[in-house]
Amino acid sequence: MTNENTLPGSNTAELTGFAALGITGALLKATHTAGFTEPKPIQAQAIPPQMEGRDIFGIAQTGSGKTAAFALPILSKIIALGTKRRPKTARALILAPTRELAVQIEDTIKILAKGAHVSTALVLGGVSRFSQVKKVAPGVDILIATPGRLTDLVREGDLMLADTKWLVLDEGDRMLDMGFINDVKRIAKATAPDRQTVLFSATMPNEIAELAKGLLKNPIRVEVAPQSTAAAEIVQGVVFARTKQKRQVLSTMLADEAMKSVIIFSRTKHGADRVTKDLERDGFKAAVIHGNKSQNARQKALNDFRDGSVRILVATDIAARGIDVPGISHVVNFDLPDEAESYVHRIGRTGRNGMDGIAITLCDPSENSKLRQVERIIRTKLPIVADHLGSPDPQRNPAEKNERFEPANDRNDRNGRRDGRRPGGENKGNGFGKKRFGDKPAFAGERKPEGAKPAFKGNNKRRFGGKRPAARAA
Ligand code: AMP
Repeated sequence: MTNENTLPGSNTAELTGFAALGITGALLKATHTAGFTEPKPIQAQAIPPQMEGRDIFGIAQTGSGKTAAFALPILSKIIALGTKRRPKTARALILAPTRELAVQIEDTIKILAKGAHVSTALVLGGVSRFSQVKKVAPGVDILIATPGRLTDLVREGDLMLADTKWLVLDEGDRMLDMGFINDVKRIAKATAPDRQTVLFSATMPNEIAELAKGLLKNPIRVEVAPQSTAAAEIVQGVVFARTKQKRQVLSTMLADEAMKSVIIFSRTKHGADRVTKDLERDGFKAAVIHGNKSQNARQKALNDFRDGSVRILVATDIAARGIDVPGISHVVNFDLPDEAESYVHRIGRTGRNGMDGIAITLCDPSENSKLRQVERIIRTKLPIVADHLGSPDPQRNPAEKNERFEPANDRNDRNGRRDGRRPGGENKGNGFGKKRFGDKPAFAGERKPEGAKPAFKGNNKRRFGGKRPAARAA
């Protein structure tokens, strides 16, 4: 617990909590008011080196307290320097892969900066561009943005990044998966060369290590959770059911009142809509959140789920990423994610803050290979909760091998787009020039996981009405 001695001006030897990390004055007060008395491990590790001006490479997931870990040092420095903003500039820039995460970050920063004169603004796709341009026109202290809309504002001359001395890339791996990596590199290049940079990522694929090498100067590495291991307090299991049985299985499960607050993951936006409709037909009230929904609809769905007006939220991986809703009792994977890493993020929505959580995965025989990838990554064989296939899974019981349980073809699981780049090479961009989006799709009619690049050849302008593909506009 903190006491009088932790407040600014007291003896440094006595400092505890956030004061011992160098947080002072109004910021320390607001931090305490927010209920942050003891720093979380990621904060204890990341704040002091940032206060000294060092770059940070952090491996941490949402829920670890990483937002305050990068926000408090930036706020400290901006407060210490006083108001010094030029029109159409941002002193600090925080890039997040999704709109929801960006909104969440701004909310946290506003709480932490209460009582201090620090301005914030959000620049996101899917909402009015005009009001964002107006907001950044006088200059802003901390800008929180998704890469697509930010690129647009910079390209059109509505925002300049030359004065941006602090750059944070949050959820770097998701940024990569969503195909934002080149936007991120371009944005970073436009910021002040002597900037301080922080990169947080929940996992560390090679591309993130490469990105870190390119953007960070002699960084301090901080890490709070071992890579790709699920939290220990989540009980996990698999239910074998054919795709056409899944609706019935899900509705039977949801009839159990112990499922108080449930998030159901679907691999595709279309799938999420279908699951929601089926649930409604079966008498359940459910909210849905995915990249084709307007920002207002997404925020309403989240609010309804957060305040308990609906107990079921159906979501795609990208839309749900970074969401921190306390008290989610169950995660149901209606289907397996294309990327095994996503499984860890999905189930991490439950079992938070030491509370118990249950994660159930519905698996059709065609998804067996994906299930095996997940099990490899979490280093655990998921216990079978129920088997509706009528015969044991031959993969698990090789003695009873039966052809009809073999996946027909699972080689296309990832569509070759695991790293968010389209097959055939990098996008050909020309800085912030207008002809940047040369996404060449693979073939028509394919249902893509949300966030994958568009997959057909032809006239992008006609297909997208001259706009960016929805997944990239997140
Ligand atoms: P984050 O990983 O930044 O999304 O934070 C996860 C949750 O932890 C949020 O609900 C924060 O409000 C909360 N939190 C962050 N730091 C602290 C702290 N030092 N003490 C208590 N709660 C915290």
